[in-house]
Amino acid sequence: MQVIILGSGSPLPDPQRAGPSTLVRTAIGDLLFDCGRGVLMRAAAVASGAGAFQALLLTHLHSDHITDLNDLFTMRWVMSFSPNPLPVFGPSGTAALLQATAAMLEPDIGYRLAHHDDLQWRPSAAVTEVESGVILDRGTVRVTAAPTDHAPVRPTVGYRIDDGERSVVIAGDTVPCAGLDVLCAGADVLVHTVVRRDLIEQIGLPRLVDVLDYHSSVPEAAKTAERNGVRTLILTHLVPAPAPGTEQEWLDQAIAHFKGEVVLATDLLTLDV
Ligand SMILES: [Zn+2]
Ligand SMILES: [Zn+2]
Repeated sequence: MQVIILGSGSPLPDPQRAGPSTLVRTAIGDLLFDCGRGVLMRAAAVASGAGAFQALLLTHLHSDHITDLNDLFTMRWVMSFSPNPLPVFGPSGTAALLQATAAMLEPDIGYRLAHHDDLQWRPSAAVTEVESGVILDRGTVRVTAAPTDHAPVRPTVGYRIDDGERSVVIAGDTVPCAGLDVLCAGADVLVHTVVRRDLIEQIGLPRLVDVLDYHSSVPEAAKTAERNGVRTLILTHLVPAPAPGTEQEWLDQAIAHFKGEVVLATDLLTLDV
């Protein structure tokens, strides 16, 4: 299995960091977790793309995690030579989101259907709304969902991907919680979104300080990894984006609470699991 951070950024636009998105390469193909800003640009860099994803799995419906859903939905349709519905898993509200996305794209869908004689079908998605338990079981690959805590954003889910003996957890945005602990038990890799509490408090901007309510700080993510015997912790969705030269500060805040390996994500960071 392989984990590729497609976007290590956050809602804040950054020239070096695309929006939140992680690709997990498994024995059954590529699974895409969230689809933030620039996801298909980054996927193209690793020879993946809209037509290749076995499924899109959304952790929650915050805009930064779904920014490029419309791009994915359209490119999957236009670049497939036979009907290729996009399998989408996500929390309650995901089906309505896909319907709204299709509605938003209605003029474009009309243009392309009228123009391309060989395009005889509309774009579509096969949506499964999930809460907890095994949501996908195919070949050697099993994906399990569990509720996370990103209140007042509800519902939100994290995912664990088991491929044979190896396991990867995608936490999404969450504070430490029981659901995430269940997913993380003994996992090889935990991909965890984090914010820097110390820096955000220093900046002191009320709207930025609010993000502390529902994200894990670096020490909190490290404690989740340590408590559950995780082997490697990848810190991503970095708020604020690390200033060049400060990367070690982020690592040190995690190392203080976690004995395993810590990696600070950059776009296209690739880890063999
Ligand atoms: Zn969020
Ligand atoms: Zn987010």
